[in-house]
Amino acid sequence: MAPHIAGPADLHLHSNHSDGTQPPAEVVRQAHAHGVRTVALTDHDRTTGWGEAGEAATDLGMTFIPGMELSAKHEWRSVHVLGYLFDPDDAALVAETDRIRGDRIGRAERIVRNIGRDYDLLWEDVVAQTAGDATVGRPHIADALVARGIVRDRTEAFDGILHPREGYYEPHYAPDPLTAVRLITDAGGVAIIAHPVTSGRDRMMPLPFIERLIDAGLGGFEIDHRENTAEGKRVLREIAARHDLIVTGSSDYHGAGKPNLPGENTTSEEMVERIVRRATGTTPRYP
Ligand code: AMP
Ligand code: FE
Ligand code: FE
Ligand code: ZN
Repeated sequence: MAPHIAGPADLHLHSNHSDGTQPPAEVVRQAHAHGVRTVALTDHDRTTGWGEAGEAATDLGMTFIPGMELSAKHEWRSVHVLGYLFDPDDAALVAETDRIRGDRIGRAERIVRNIGRDYDLLWEDVVAQTAGDATVGRPHIADALVARGIVRDRTEAFDGILHPREGYYEPHYAPDPLTAVRLITDAGGVAIIAHPVTSGRDRMMPLPFIERLIDAGLGGFEIDHRENTAEGKRVLREIAARHDLIVTGSSDYHGAGKPNLPGENTTSEEMVERIVRRATGTTPRYP
C-alpha cells in the first residue's frame, strides 16, 4: 500500500528548465503557497529539474511526482504527452528527448531568422532569455520580443508574431503520439494526454486515433485544464469512463509566462493513487 497522497494535487507545472520563468524550487514553493500539497514538475522534454523540485517539496512537507511533458505530433497537430514516474535513465526515452531538444534549437534559430527579416531581433536576444540549456521554445522567443519592446507580453507574441498564420513559424521534430505513449509506458511511466481538446489549430485528435493510443497503453487524459473546451471535456470523460482510464486536472503553470496559477485545477487523490500504482519506473518522493 502506497503512503497516503497529500491534499490538493497539481500534476502539470513548468520551471525554467523548459519554458517556465522560475527555477524548480520556486515553482514548488508557489504551488505550496497556492494550497497544493502533491506537485509534479513536467518540463517539456527534460527531467533535469526533478532533484531540485523534489528537495523543495520535501522541505515543505509535500509529495513530489516526477514528470515530463513530451512533445509529439499528429499530422499538423502539436500533441503533448505527460509522462509520470518513468525511469529517467531509460535509454530510448533519453535518446528521443535529446533529439527533440536538439532539433528545437535549430528550429528556434530558423524562427528568429524569419522574424529578423521584419523586426529587430537576434538569436542572442533569445539566448539571453533562456536559462542554461533549458528546452528552448517559442516562449523564449516571446520573451526576447518583449525585451526588445516589440510586444507587451507572451500572450501578445503568441497571438501575433509567433502565430503560424503570420508566416514566421517553423515546426520542430517530434515523434508520433503512438511512439510517445509507448516510450513513456516502456520506461515504466504513465502516459496522459495533456490538454487534449483545445480549440483552434491543435484541436482534438480524431477519435479512432485516440482509441489506438488507448490500445498502445495510454493511461488517460488531462481533462480539467483551462484550455480544454466544455464539449471536448464531455466527450473525453465519456471515453475515459468507457475504458476505465485515469483523468487528471492541472494548472499548466509557467510562472510569469502565462496567467495559469498553481492549483487552479486539481487531480483527485484516487486518480493520483492510480498513477502511482500503475507506474514502475520510479516512485514519488514522499515527505
Ligand atoms: P513551442 O513548443 O516552442 O511551439 O511552444 C509552445 C509552448 O508555448 C507551449 O508549451 C506553451 O507553454 C507556450 N504557449 C502557447 N501559447 C501561449 C500563450 N498564449 N502565452 C504563453 N505561452 C504560450
Ligand atoms: Fe510550455
Ligand atoms: Fe502543453
Ligand atoms: Zn505544459
